[in-house]
Amino acid sequence: MQEELLRGEDIYRFADESLEIILMFDDNGKILYGNALAKNDLGYGEELTTIRLDELFPGELRQEDNSFSMEQVAQMKEGMMYRKNGTCFPVRMSIVMEAGRNLLFSINIAKRIETERKLVRMKEEMEETIKVRNEFVANVTHELRTPVNGIRGHVTNLLEAGVTGEVKNTMDIIIRCCENMSAIINNILDFSKLEAGKFIIEQKEFNFYKMVNHAVETNITAINSKGLHIGVNIDKIIPEYLIGDELRLTQILNNLLSNAVKFTSVGYINIEVTKTVEFDDEIELFFVVSDTGIGISQEEKDKLFKSFSQVDASITRKYGGTGLGLAITKQLIELMHGSIHLDSEKGKGSSFSFSVRLHLSQNSKEGLKAGERFEFINQNQVVPQFDDLEKIFQFGTTENLQEIASKMEKLIICMDVEAWDKAETFAHNIKELLEQAPKDIKKSAFRMEMNVRKGNYEKSMEQYNSIKSALEESIGGK
Ligand code: ADP
Repeated sequence: MQEELLRGEDIYRFADESLEIILMFDDNGKILYGNALAKNDLGYGEELTTIRLDELFPGELRQEDNSFSMEQVAQMKEGMMYRKNGTCFPVRMSIVMEAGRNLLFSINIAKRIETERKLVRMKEEMEETIKVRNEFVANVTHELRTPVNGIRGHVTNLLEAGVTGEVKNTMDIIIRCCENMSAIINNILDFSKLEAGKFIIEQKEFNFYKMVNHAVETNITAINSKGLHIGVNIDKIIPEYLIGDELRLTQILNNLLSNAVKFTSVGYINIEVTKTVEFDDEIELFFVVSDTGIGISQEEKDKLFKSFSQVDASITRKYGGTGLGLAITKQLIELMHGSIHLDSEKGKGSSFSFSVRLHLSQNSKEGLKAGERFEFINQNQVVPQFDDLEKIFQFGTTENLQEIASKMEKLIICMDVEAWDKAETFAHNIKELLEQAPKDIKKSAFRMEMNVRKGNYEKSMEQYNSIKSALEESIGGK
């Protein structure tokens, strides 16, 4: 029989190794046996079998008339167990009643209670810290917004009153600084709201094509002024009207697009939107925003979507920013039941792809109507490939010469209006584009960059003209 497998002495050996206190007692409460842990922990040693169970549980079991009640024992689940020296500890118990040979198993839960208490305290403290921080952020950002708007308003008034030349340039810069500052303030506020879980995604009908067009429009001045090409392709089966948070979707696109512009000096930026799935009244869209910019390495990728992370400090110095944009973008995308992914190769470009779910409306039955056109969408643009970048830098290809011509044009305009900072970027681009050119052209490009850096108009023009005529000769010779 099964029971015969374990003999009495085996059972006591197991009981002595148990991490629970085990006691055996009769129906009058007299302790008949205690395992090793019970003898040690309670401090009675061998004397344990001389006392009654109610001495160990005075709070739960002791009666005024010194009687002992098995009914009370049956009700015990948790309680305080007392040692011989009067100290006590909390225990959780289970009781097995068996006429004359009852068993009590108990485990010390002091540590667990302490840990639980600590966790509750930590959680409360953390919630309080987040609450205080969010209130602080909300107040500070609100306070900052007022003076920034004030400065912008007054400078706009002065500009409208008609200022020209140097003063106008300075005022334009002040306006741009105010806009940057407002964008940073909004980012901080959004981030703090997202963290507090107080962000609500609106569900309103909007024109999807108009929204994408608007996001491109917002960045088009920067795109043009850097001489970049932009392509926007939207799968025409995507309905014109959808339901979702237009403002936040624009924010996501804007952020990816403005980063693409910021980190690309030569080549293309492309936006693709396709429909992946359609459920009952929901549609999933897949966006890809790619560029031929500086790219991001593998180890930098891992840090990217975390708050306040910029891939390295030199980038912050050169391009500015708070490193909040992508962290916000990621959270907004997740609130729209999607995810974001990055493909990138250092020096070749980046491709951010993300999905979002939007709702269909009564007006969503059809895709874009034939003949309907938006300024920047599906206008037969070339779709950029990373390989195109190689052609751009390969001296003498159509792509290379076109790119040089476009940058030369921009350079001359910047030099004419003495926008030396921008001129320097273009002169640097031209030097890079001429990396594989014959030695004398390369030398001129190098000198031109040096002279532009010094703001020397005459000498820069000399190099400019010599590059121009050398190129014309080289194209003519083809
Ligand atoms: P910020 O607001 O400072 O631009 P983001 O979160 O938008 O912060 O971007 C964080 C960092 O990710 C940038 O500083 C840059 O180093 C890198 N990054 C983002 N987009 C691109 C891109 N298209 N090409 C190269 N690097 C990028």
